Amino acid sequence: STAEIGLIGLGTMGAALALNIAEKGFDIAVWNRTGSVTKEFAAGAGDLADKITATDSLEDLVNAIAKPRSIILMVPAGKPVDDQIAALRPLLDKGDMIIDAGNANFHDTNRRDADTGDLAFLGMGVSGGEDGARHGPSIMGGGPKSAWDRVSHIMEAISAKHEGIPCATWMGEAGAGHFVKAVHNGIEYADMQMIAEVYGVMRDGMGKTPAEIAAVFDRWNEGPLQSYLTEISAKVSAAVDPATGTPMLDVILDAAGQKGTGRWTVIEAQHLAAPVPAMEAAVMARNLSSRVAERAAGEALFSAAPRMLPEGVMNIDELENALIAGKIVCYAQGFGLISAASDEFGWKLPLPEIAKVWRAGCIIRSTMLNDMAEALAEDGSRNLMHAPYFAELLKDSHWGLRATVAEAARYGLPAPALASGLAYFDMMRTGRSTANMIQAQRDFFGAHGFDRIDGHDGHHGPWGSHG
Ligand code: NDP
Repeated sequence: STAEIGLIGLGTMGAALALNIAEKGFDIAVWNRTGSVTKEFAAGAGDLADKITATDSLEDLVNAIAKPRSIILMVPAGKPVDDQIAALRPLLDKGDMIIDAGNANFHDTNRRDADTGDLAFLGMGVSGGEDGARHGPSIMGGGPKSAWDRVSHIMEAISAKHEGIPCATWMGEAGAGHFVKAVHNGIEYADMQMIAEVYGVMRDGMGKTPAEIAAVFDRWNEGPLQSYLTEISAKVSAAVDPATGTPMLDVILDAAGQKGTGRWTVIEAQHLAAPVPAMEAAVMARNLSSRVAERAAGEALFSAAPRMLPEGVMNIDELENALIAGKIVCYAQGFGLISAASDEFGWKLPLPEIAKVWRAGCIIRSTMLNDMAEALAEDGSRNLMHAPYFAELLKDSHWGLRATVAEAARYGLPAPALASGLAYFDMMRTGRSTANMIQAQRDFFGAHGFDRIDGHDGHHGPWGSHG
């Protein structure tokens, strides 16, 4: 029993993570439900094979790991994780540790954390897709700090590095790591949706070809929008279908898939009364995108919207500014949600550290996250939009967001995430809101009462009892 760590589930992510762990010099024992997958994995491990013990039963896996054991689960979230924990439990000894590295719902992680008995349990969010898992993901750990400390040297070694600093951080107790990963995914949804909306303005409003759009994204990737998602948007726009010679984007069906992590995030945000409208719009847009036939019927029925913008109505700089402002607003919402959860669950989530852990390895990595880490370190309690650096950036860029949303609305180009971002911005800079009308209505029909701005007595209106 010499392996320092074990891993169960040699699918896309598990196989990549196991190779990464072996490459960083740790002996690892692996097991997969389907034995042939284990054999293929071992056969393909090349130079790393001597660091890897491939086992063909759970017993063999457990026996191959040094005590106290640490075993990573990389299987689909939900029942497979519970089943795998149940199968492992009788084979483990007191103090052994199970690490769920899949995309668990943090409520499940809270439950598993409470149920571990004399085992240790970590819920660990891993971001970066297959390539990240293989060469350096962003890792968000949750569970007892003492458990994290036992494996943090491995997690730091395999994680992405930003200027030498590992993107692997303990976020807090129980489901804290999986919660932060869920918010990451929610932001990812919104970031992707806003890029898709701007792509739509360029494609349908400006008549740009995918190659021209690729050049725009490439240029933006040199400025404030520098990010992995901008970079790959340029690459996918430039790609050509080898089978037909058509731009790749033009042959891909416009119906988005999802595994549900974005939805969890917006549901949780609703529970916490911490609005994340850009993420809600992104989840909504994915759902509507899948109604392909219904959309086609709608297009045949309502042909009024021209979509094509008249020459000179909008320029590329305004679109760039729309994305800059949209991004700031989206992250303000995301960090607001993290703060609310931190208070609600007593987690003390480290906001600047979260921005730092997202700077490399993960899908939402970007230059702007570096500035966010600094702004949150100065003062994590304020809205990110109020940090001086981002306030200045927003003062300049919100005009681009406004122009984009306005022209998109006028010409029938859907831009729900950008529009919701603008609405959030405008609501959050309106000192006197219109909720006095809501309060009056509530009092009128339900005698719910209201506060007065002049401090005078009288918490009901002169409308008697109605409704
Ligand atoms: P895959 O489908 O590629 O692999 C799933 C693995 O889990 C396989 O090894 C499979 O074994 C095993 N498995 C499935 N069901 C069970 C079960 N009931 N009991 C035991 N083992 C089972 O998935 P991924 O690697 O993509 O994803 C794994 C986890 O990582 C998920 O939670 C996912 O959400 C998360 N994740 C994925 C990312 C990605 O980019 N793909 C990014 C970040 C997180 P078998 O060979 O026998 O089928």
